[in-house]
Amino acid sequence: MEIYGLQKLTLLDYPGLTACTVFLAGCDLRCPFCHNYELAVRVSEPVMDEEDLTEFLGRRKGLLDGVVFTGGEPCLSPGLPALMGKVKDMGFLVKLDTNGMHPVILEELISDGLVDYAAMDIKNSPGKYAVTAGLPDKAIDMDALRRSIGLIKQLGEKGEFRTTVVAGFHEESDFEAIGQELDGAFQYFLQPFVDRDTVPDRDLRAPDIEELHKYAEIAKKFIKNVEIRGL
Ligand code: SF4
Repeated sequence: MEIYGLQKLTLLDYPGLTACTVFLAGCDLRCPFCHNYELAVRVSEPVMDEEDLTEFLGRRKGLLDGVVFTGGEPCLSPGLPALMGKVKDMGFLVKLDTNGMHPVILEELISDGLVDYAAMDIKNSPGKYAVTAGLPDKAIDMDALRRSIGLIKQLGEKGEFRTTVVAGFHEESDFEAIGQELDGAFQYFLQPFVDRDTVPDRDLRAPDIEELHKYAEIAKKFIKNVEIRGL
């Protein structure tokens, strides 16, 4: 399997643990605020193959706790379950970042014991999901997303939901609707958009900080732990 990026050490991507982050290519969404856009649309080149990765991990045994699989959307890579299995056999914990569009694969990965922690993006309230995911003319499969939400909820503290909050895309009523979807979830993170100029022809802005705090208060009516990340 081809690997499109490797961050050799992260203290942020896997909560509470030291990890490396493995980037896989391809995504079925086109979020205008994507920080890995070239990778999502598959215009970047692989940096290594699976063997190179396992060699690297062999040298990091005892130094890293976990491996984060991110993208793009990792569930689109057919070799993901086998690679996760190898990584777990080497003694690492595995975290999966997902956009939640592939509940069947997500369920298999979880039931096969391949996922120790999972983070799912919630792009916006259902009515604005397609436009926020950069696909205004497409119907987003909300049933699929809700199945994934259910699976992540079942993970309890080993699962998280998160929303990248972008000025002009999100408003208070969206967090009421998102809260209803996530009702009973263990944790939810609001992440203010940071402009890294990664998507061509986009002029997006970070949200107002006061607004962000209001959104978090709304979400707290439904979710036990709500935090703003990255301020
Ligand atoms: S789901 Fe993630 S990887 Fe895919 S386009 Fe959106 S932000 Fe980028």
